[in-house]
Amino acid sequence: MSKIKVKTTMVEMDGDEMTRIMWSMVKAKLLFPYLDIPLEYYDLHVKYRDDTDDQVTFDAARAIIKYGVGVKCATITPTEDRVKEYDLKKAWKSPNGTIRAMLDGTVFRTPIQVKNVKPSVSSWKKPITIGRHAYGDVYNNTEIYAPGPGKAELVFTPADGSPPVRQTIHDFTAPGIIQGIHNTDQSIASFAKACFTHALDQKTDLWFSTKDTISKIYDANFRRIFAEEFEKNWQDKFAATGIEYFFTLIDDAVARIMKSEGGILWAVKNYDGDVMSDMIASANGSLAMMTSVLVSPDGHYEYEAAHGTVQKHYYKHLNGEETSSNSMALIFAWTGALRKRGELDGTDDVVRFADILEKAAIETIEGGTMTGDLLLIAEPNPNNRKVNTEGFIDAIAARLENML
Ligand code: NAP
Ligand code: MG
Repeated sequence: MSKIKVKTTMVEMDGDEMTRIMWSMVKAKLLFPYLDIPLEYYDLHVKYRDDTDDQVTFDAARAIIKYGVGVKCATITPTEDRVKEYDLKKAWKSPNGTIRAMLDGTVFRTPIQVKNVKPSVSSWKKPITIGRHAYGDVYNNTEIYAPGPGKAELVFTPADGSPPVRQTIHDFTAPGIIQGIHNTDQSIASFAKACFTHALDQKTDLWFSTKDTISKIYDANFRRIFAEEFEKNWQDKFAATGIEYFFTLIDDAVARIMKSEGGILWAVKNYDGDVMSDMIASANGSLAMMTSVLVSPDGHYEYEAAHGTVQKHYYKHLNGEETSSNSMALIFAWTGALRKRGELDGTDDVVRFADILEKAAIETIEGGTMTGDLLLIAEPNPNNRKVNTEGFIDAIAARLENML
């Protein structure tokens, strides 16, 4: 059989530890036998980032902007411990943070659902995707502990010399706390654009929720920008696709989500996204079943697994012990990127390959062959058997071979 040709260059970002090991197996056993992919390779191994003073991360981000689609392995975000472990020059910034900043992108996380692992919420038949605004709010806050009585004020001093705007936050009569947070119209607009882009891409309804009844300027500004962006650029496209944009209060959204059947892209502010994405992940069982895509407002895409480098399994592996690490999210990072590349290039055979590989992977688990993390949460069945890291990829490869 001749290989399927991917037309345009894809950006590949290799990573660290256990995921680096699974990454090369996925390529060797599930992709390269069937696909001819022009790849531009960036090695984001922590040691190579260190060797290049992190230049390789910036180069990779620029390549995604140039070609449009990238796929990334999990990478170590250096901490003091890691600096010692790998003898690094310094604790370089998180590569994901750097790439997200350069693409001005929004991260969407979606669980991979299989029939024999039921979500904790029984009504959820289809995945719920969280779109988290990853700028500002409490994550870039300024805080003061007020040790005793005093006046707390919010002051804005315009750069053009016009008089400052001043509001009293609180007249303290005893110790207390104060917090200042901000956001920018530009960042909110980029977030909105990425959400509308991704909802249309996935042909799914978009919900956006804030608490604008209480926060009449801050949260209301988010609501206004989303509404304006929708009316200006998306209303007709959404109608033509048969999908909806829906705004509701955050508490109402939570209540509705718990009773919904899923199949929603839920866009939320930074803190809500931090909390809700972990809830959705946990309700779906395993971090290894959560995919992630970074979408820029200009329509550049970077696909990856939501989990990290699975450090504990890697140390076991280095010790010569058997591991049973789950490669599903890594495989789906590749299929997501391939499907997107195929759609942009108009190459149906590439899109079809991505669909078939996903089907082979899902059916492998549904047939009872799975890694340890899933065996713990799958519905009991005599067919269930635990396989090791490589055995799982081999089982998918065998199924894939029969399906192609
Ligand atoms: P992690 O890699 O997400 O793993 C945490 C735990 O979740 C694992 O110990 C394992 O639990 C389970 N797990 C995660 N992925 C799994 C998989 N594919 N198969 C089976 N089990 C899986 O988080 P971490 O170990 O705390 O972080 C390791 C490194 O990853 C850190 O250096 C961090 O900076 C980095 N990180 C990178 C990214 C990214 O690149 N996107 C994201 C997060 C973290 P058990 O041990 O119970 O089996
Ligand atoms: Mg969180």
